[in-house]
Order: sequence, then C-alpha cells, then structure tokens
Amino acid sequence: MNMTLTKQQKTLGMRDKECIWHPFAQNKIDPMPLEVVRAKGAKLYDAQGKTYYDLISSWWVALHGHCHPYITMAIANQAAELDQVIFAKCTHPKAVELVERLLPLLPGEFARGFYSSCGSTAVEVGLKMAYQFWQNQGKTERKRILAFEGGYHGDTFGAMAVGRSTGFYEAYAPLLHPVSFVPFAHTHHNDAEVVLKEQYALEKLDQYLEQYGKETAAFIYEPLLQGSGGMRVCRPEFMEAVLSRLKDHGIVLIADEIMTGFGRTGTMFAGEQINTKADIICISKGLTNGSLPLALTCCTDEIYQAFYCDSWKRVLAHSGSFDANPIACAAACASLDIFEQDSTLHKIAELARAHHQCLNIMRSELSDVLENPRSIGVVGAIDLKSDGNSYFNGVKHQIAAKCLESGMLLRPLGSVIYLLTPACLTPNELEESYTKLIKIVKEVVEKI
Ligand SMILES: *Cc1c(COP(=O)(O)O)cnc(C)c1O
Repeated sequence: MNMTLTKQQKTLGMRDKECIWHPFAQNKIDPMPLEVVRAKGAKLYDAQGKTYYDLISSWWVALHGHCHPYITMAIANQAAELDQVIFAKCTHPKAVELVERLLPLLPGEFARGFYSSCGSTAVEVGLKMAYQFWQNQGKTERKRILAFEGGYHGDTFGAMAVGRSTGFYEAYAPLLHPVSFVPFAHTHHNDAEVVLKEQYALEKLDQYLEQYGKETAAFIYEPLLQGSGGMRVCRPEFMEAVLSRLKDHGIVLIADEIMTGFGRTGTMFAGEQINTKADIICISKGLTNGSLPLALTCCTDEIYQAFYCDSWKRVLAHSGSFDANPIACAAACASLDIFEQDSTLHKIAELARAHHQCLNIMRSELSDVLENPRSIGVVGAIDLKSDGNSYFNGVKHQIAAKCLESGMLLRPLGSVIYLLTPACLTPNELEESYTKLIKIVKEVVEKI
C-alpha cells in the first residue's frame, strides 16, 4: 500500500509535524498539535468545530479573551491608516498615546517608556538600562546582578542568565553571564511555615547584601507570583521586606510584570500591593490582549537622566525592527479602554474568589495526591505530590491530554497543575472546569 499522501489529504497537524519546530517541545514524543482555526472569548475552536476552554489564556496573553471585537476593530482601522514606520527619529500617534496613558497607571514614579517587541526583549532592555545606569555615572564597581531563585524572565541570553535557576538552560550554562540568587519564600493556602520560610530567605538576603550590596547594580524579580518557575506565590509582606532592603542599598529594582501586569494578580499591576516601588518595569504579554507582539520597559526619571546628555557614548544601545509597531500600539490602547468598558478588574475579583474556593475543594478531594493549593487573581495552582520534580514527567502529559479530550486547554508545569484564566470566563464556567479537572486527575492517578 502506498502511504504517500498528497498535501490535500494530510491534516494540518501532519503537515506541521513535517516542517515546524515548536517552542519548548520534543517533537519526537509530543502528540499531534491541536489544530486551532478560530477563537472567541474564552474558547478555541478546532477544524471539526470542537471547542476548548483556553484555561491558560494562550500562554498568559489573552487577558480579556480572544478576538475581542473592540480590539479587532482598532487593529483593522490602524492597519488601514499606518501599518509600520521606523521608530528611530520617527514617531506616531498610538505610540505616544499608549505611553502617556500607561505611565500614570504603573506602580511607581515612571517617566519614560522604551518599546520593544516581546517580554524577553523588554527584560534585556531593563537589564541594559540598569547596568549602564551605573556605568554612565562612572560607578563601575556596581556590576553584580541579583535575582530570585526560581524566577523566569524569558529565553534570550540575558534573560536566561537571570532565570537560570529554573534549570531550563543547562545546555547554555557556560555562555550565561554570572548572576547571584536569593531564595523566594513561596507559600500556599493555610501555610503554617510561611513566617519561618520568609525569615530564612531574608537572612540569606542580608548575608548577600552585607558582602555584595555595594557591588550590586540591579535586582530583577517577578512581584508576588513566579510564573514559569511553578506558579509560586509569596506574601506582599515578604516582597516588601526584600525590596526595602535592596532599596536601602541603592540597588536598581527591575520589576518583571510581563505576566503579572494587567490585572492578573487582582490589581492592575502586582506592584500596587507592595510599598517599595521599582525603578524599571517590564511589561508585555497582556499589553495587546495577546493580539500582536509588543513590549515596554519603563523607567524613572532618575534612570533616564543617567543617559540624557550631549554625548553619544551614553546612549542605550538597543533597537528592534518592530519596536512600537503602530498596529500593536493601537491594539494596546484598545485593550486599556476595555478595562473600563467591560469592568475587567471586577470580573477578575469574582474569578479570584472562585479559584480560591475551587482549589480548596480540589485539595480536599485529592489530598493523597495533591498539595499546596495557592491562588492569586486569575491564577490558581496546585502541586502533584511526586518523588522527583522533573519538568518532563509523564503524569502531566496524561492530564493535559485528557483535559483536551474533554474540551479544556491546560499546560501543567512540571508537577504543577495551574489555570490562568481570561477575564471573560464566568465563575460558573471556572467551577465546571475545576470539577472536570478533579475527575480527570482522579482517573489518571488511579491508574498509576
Ligand atoms: C513570558 C515571560 C517572559 C518572556 O516573555 P516572551 O514574550 O515570551 O519573551 C518574561 N518574564 C516573565 C515573567 C514571563 O512570564
């Protein structure tokens, strides 16, 4: 029998398998990709018309939900008016409007916005700003970069270096610049040990600062919630204790709000829940509601002034072809409007309550196999009790596959099962999803 199929006879997945290299994927063992042809609100549609709840907001970007008509219209209008223009020595209305509107919303005294096109580049820009801030002032002893253990900041080289403690980047270890790490005191519902964990982490931080405080240029952190590192939550009190100590040592604070920004943790930005404010903030993901790639790195006037002078020597040496793309900026402005039109933060508050309750139910029904339920804003997470914490373990693949069968898109991180839901999902839909998830986890673990 001749098994050679023509292009028309092959499914989209088959054609994909022959030519695409997917992100963080092992194509040899990964199942056929889900063929998504359409999306609306919290739902994805495949070629057969089957629907799936997008319970991870498509890698945390689809904040209000997919194909919001107001954003779709803004994109179409802008595409017809001005699609792209070089952003060196040129400007355009939507780039200016977006930064003018965002600066007052950010948690801190931010004065300038620097555009780039994804989260990783926003982090690279933030690191370069912070490092050069000291160099430009002749304070060359400030060279060290500090980060939290388990922090994730993107997959370009600078971002990998500050995220290397996640263990994702062993293959590139010799190429990554040196970074120091301090513990992140993560916690969960009804955690009796939280104070002890925090004391330990702060002791380690104090030891570091005593030795290297004066040599440290910058600290980069995900406020309140570490994403790819395992959806790990900490208390605002802990964040405040860490940040105030670092501020006392004059260290530049770089808040990576790429995931936490735009309501994910219940407030517009997570930094609102912490007193000590950042000097630099990186935002992307939800910025355009996931419709187009765009990122911003914003800084205080103090940072900006270290670059502002008559000499070319002090310029921030960074640019990207797609910086401040007008269509993306128009989508981002539209997304800001929706916060008011759709009462997005109110919807998020309702979802937050539902996540909290559902997780506690999940934990009590599956206490033999699940532990550490935690939630913040639209994020709910729980750990599978397992011997090793390998990212590539089998149980999570089985759970993800069964979820897909029953119409839910999830992507467990190692032994962590989590949901990061779009604001348009209703609390009822969320409860139904948890109910189905509990049933699926039961089925999968019973077979082991
Ligand atoms: C996703 C993410 C990044 C990287 O953003 P990309 O757009 O994927 O490059 C950086 N930091 C955090 C906290 C993220 O969640």
